[in-house]
Amino acid sequence: MMRQFELVEQVKSYDPTADEDALNRAYVYTMKQHGAQRRASGDPYFSHPIEVAGILTRYKLDTASIISALLHDTIEDTDATQAEIEKMFGPDVARLVDGVTKLSRIELQSDRSKQAENFRKLVLAMSEDIRVLLIKLADRLHNMRTLKYIASDEKRRRIALETMEIYAPLAERIGMSEIKNELEDLAFAELHPEVRDSIVARLNFLREQGTHLIERIIGELERRLKESGVEAEVTGREKMPYSIWRKMQTKNVAFEQLSDIMAFRVIVKDVNDCYHALGVIHSRYPMVPGRFKDYISTPKPNGYRSLHTGVLGPESHRIEIQIRSQEMHDVAELGVAAHWTYKTGHHPADGTQYRWLRELLDAMEHAASPEEFLEHTKLEMFQDQVFCFTPKGDLIALPRGACPVDFAYAVHSKVGDTCVGAKINGRIMPLRTPLNNGDQVEIVTSKAQSPNPTWERFVVTAKARARIRRFVRTQQRNQYLDLGRAMLGRAFKQEGYEMTEKAIEGVLKIFKEDSVEDLTVLVGQGTIPARDVVVAIYPELKTTAKPDNVVSLRRRTQKSRGPAMPIRGLIPGMAMHFAACCHPLPGDRIVGIVTTGKGVTIHTIDCEMLEQYAETPERWLDIAWNEDPKQDEAHVGRINLVVQNEPGSLGSLSTVIAKNLGNITNLKITNRSADFFEMLLDIEVRDVKHLTNIIAALRATPAINSVERARK
Ligand code: MN
Repeated sequence: MMRQFELVEQVKSYDPTADEDALNRAYVYTMKQHGAQRRASGDPYFSHPIEVAGILTRYKLDTASIISALLHDTIEDTDATQAEIEKMFGPDVARLVDGVTKLSRIELQSDRSKQAENFRKLVLAMSEDIRVLLIKLADRLHNMRTLKYIASDEKRRRIALETMEIYAPLAERIGMSEIKNELEDLAFAELHPEVRDSIVARLNFLREQGTHLIERIIGELERRLKESGVEAEVTGREKMPYSIWRKMQTKNVAFEQLSDIMAFRVIVKDVNDCYHALGVIHSRYPMVPGRFKDYISTPKPNGYRSLHTGVLGPESHRIEIQIRSQEMHDVAELGVAAHWTYKTGHHPADGTQYRWLRELLDAMEHAASPEEFLEHTKLEMFQDQVFCFTPKGDLIALPRGACPVDFAYAVHSKVGDTCVGAKINGRIMPLRTPLNNGDQVEIVTSKAQSPNPTWERFVVTAKARARIRRFVRTQQRNQYLDLGRAMLGRAFKQEGYEMTEKAIEGVLKIFKEDSVEDLTVLVGQGTIPARDVVVAIYPELKTTAKPDNVVSLRRRTQKSRGPAMPIRGLIPGMAMHFAACCHPLPGDRIVGIVTTGKGVTIHTIDCEMLEQYAETPERWLDIAWNEDPKQDEAHVGRINLVVQNEPGSLGSLSTVIAKNLGNITNLKITNRSADFFEMLLDIEVRDVKHLTNIIAALRATPAINSVERARK
């Protein structure tokens, strides 16, 4: 365990301005808080946070991170509170400790290995400050180093699996290959001890046999490079047992080849020397095909840069070589930390290298957008997603802005269709509440519920939207189906027949439909006249058919009118429009005519146009205005006028209409003589009473000879 003064010395060595007093206070505070608590190893508990802080000094983290590492378990495991920590160490530390605490709580939620990638994303998304992730990784590293002390096989295994699937890939993602390798190897030892033991034994054997060989290869490579004027440091490195095993698995080979266990590394001054060294090696030794990779011109997403190649090297041994500059090497081992040091041009000697972190935070605060910040750090933080839990602990990934309805549909279509409410973190919340990372969402369902079309306004997932729309369409289809049945029934009756499904089935082919239901829906929509179906069954009726009732198979897609229906007797969702001939107004007696391809057209009962439908009563629908139509809804009424052709008569006409709160929307002079205008006027009014009042007022106007409501 690192002693107090050692930790402080360590931090001071790279940051002379570090707040020594705060570090000392944090060290003492965590010892006091954890008190007599013990680790599974028997060590005092406080040795753990101190070790975690020690790990982070290797990455030259700022004082706030080191202090937060010291305190990282105090909120969860002692009576310390965030408020107290904030008072003692400031808001920055309090926020970091809170972040690590929240991450630890997610860990407890469930078996996350099933959805490893989602959990990795969740951890990243929760680590809004990258320091939270760094502290978490150091925490996990120390827990893995002491994993063997945990008594429960099952618990050790679970932690190792989680490390392998969540934390090692996260360390890799931010380029910290040292931590990644150690995490993997520790997890490997727990998960497959026999495999690892046999690989280690084999490595020891080969090492004994090959020491001199490796030395010879290093010597020869160095000599060749020097002869060609490249200054380079060559090292031979044994691969980690886990990476050997993974390679054996993926390539399905045994590791007899030296190239499978050893990696040679050539460290040179700069990028030019990398390619120079590569040229020297390739010109001297035969290349192994398919092994060359240029990660300098195309770095890996985590910033890794290097040249990789495989050659038949000294003494014809197949070897793998990585060629990189010192800078590339530091970035590969230390990840974002080193990356930032180099990017900002501070060099290890000047005591400011921890500044990468300061500047990273600065960039985070001042970046114009999260995207810009991510661009800086090459970190994917998944700003566009939220991750929530089911009560059972399953993780559901959703786009940002998603609400409980999206969540419900993501769980299961049925859950979405029947959801009536949601509990977010145990509290009942509106269905349109935007979800946050880590929320636990419990959906309340009811069999009586069906998708509400208004949900479409706030859901964000395609699945939810599609299901809601599909439901609305199905509902509409059912309405057309009911209407079609009624119309067919009337059409049959009209001709003195009883409607039977069997009879309709017999003529499906004529209409090119597959089912009675499909055909009935088309009749309901008005695409196929009901009488056509009856005539198809009883061809002898054809002679009495009107010319405009000729079978029409042409279909038009029909959009339904959106707003609530002001008319009773219509089926909601059914296409409906007002006839242009008679301009029905609320208060008029009306009738609906089912029109081919257009749904229902509303006429006034005295409209002259109705005569043409006299022979097809099955197309007539009994409808009426709702008693209490919306007062603010405007309808267009049409009137014919005869006005004296004299100055000011049109002016007084419009004045009278305006005074009576009508609004002229269309005016057309249909006839004009020396003395009179005949004209047609469209006026927006509330209802028929409103129009009647206007007509009465016009009739009382001297310049106006006659006023009639238009009937055709
Ligand atoms: Mn811990």
